[in-house]
Parts: sequence; C-alpha cells; structure tokens
Amino acid sequence: MTAKVTGTMVNYYIHCKRQCWLFSNKLNLEDNSEEVRIGRILHQLKEEKAKKKEVAIDNIKIDKLTPEYLVEIKKSDADLEAVKWQTLYYLYILREKGIDRKGKIEIIDKKKENRKIHYTELTDELVFQLKEIISLIQELIERPIPPLPINKSICKKCAYYTYCYI
Ligand code: SF4
Repeated sequence: MTAKVTGTMVNYYIHCKRQCWLFSNKLNLEDNSEEVRIGRILHQLKEEKAKKKEVAIDNIKIDKLTPEYLVEIKKSDADLEAVKWQTLYYLYILREKGIDRKGKIEIIDKKKENRKIHYTELTDELVFQLKEIISLIQELIERPIPPLPINKSICKKCAYYTYCYI
C-alpha cells in the first residue's frame, strides 16, 4: 500500500529526512515543542480573524485560497526551501483537481512587525521534481528504521531534539 503524502511530510522531507520518517510513522512529539505551540496559537488567532478561509481538500489543508493565490502562512522563514516545496505540493494537488493558482507564502514573525511575502509558481520542471520527491518520501517512510540524526544547528529548534540526542 502506498501512504498518502501530506504537505507537512513534504516540508519535513526537505528539512530533515529523519523528521519526515518520525512524523510519518506517528512518532508525533510535536506537542512538547514550544515553537510548535507558538505556531499553533498564531494559527488559531489567524483562523479567528479569517474564519472559514482555511480550505481542506483530500488530505491537505490550505491556509487561504484567493482567486489568484494559494496562501501558506508561517511564523518563520527559517527553512523557506521546505515551505516552498510544501506550497508547491499544495499547488500541484490543486492543479490535479483543475484549480490553477500561484503560491504566496506569508511569514508572520511574532518578533517583527512587518510580514514578509514570498511568491512561487508551479512549472513543468518543478512538477517533475515534486513527483520525484513524493516517490522518495513514500520509499523513505516504508523503511523499518529512520535515517540517522543529521547533527545540524536546526536540530536545536526541532520537536524531536530530545528523541534524537538525549
Ligand atoms: S532533531 Fe535534527 S535529526 Fe532529529 S528530527 Fe529534528 S532535525 Fe532531524
């Protein structure tokens, strides 16, 4: 059976393959993370402001859909590359359903007043790469054990830090 890939899994795959494996195999320790809790609260506040704007399609949840953009909202652009691929994945799922949009990533940093905006767009080349990533994720998460920890500075902010190192 092939597991259904989600946007979070794509994000984690780019960020850290071990994180993707742990999350996908239900080792979900994220409730312990301060970062994740802050993110969730920001998300809830934003949800209250923009009620009913979150859109759920199949196994994906899109923050906002406007006539021109699919909007992904994050509290940090610490790993913009991972967020970009997550957004591209959502654009791809939408396109498969006949809905064409461009991607807009809004970064709402609680420490800064300005919000940063990044744009992205699905191209044939990116679709090709995305399909490759999806199949690599499916292959990765079916492995019996996770990849080794990556020993990078990003680990300190990760919800799995204790699990990986202590
Ligand atoms: S702590 Fe580091 S190695 Fe472990 S899952 Fe997080 S990013 Fe990956």
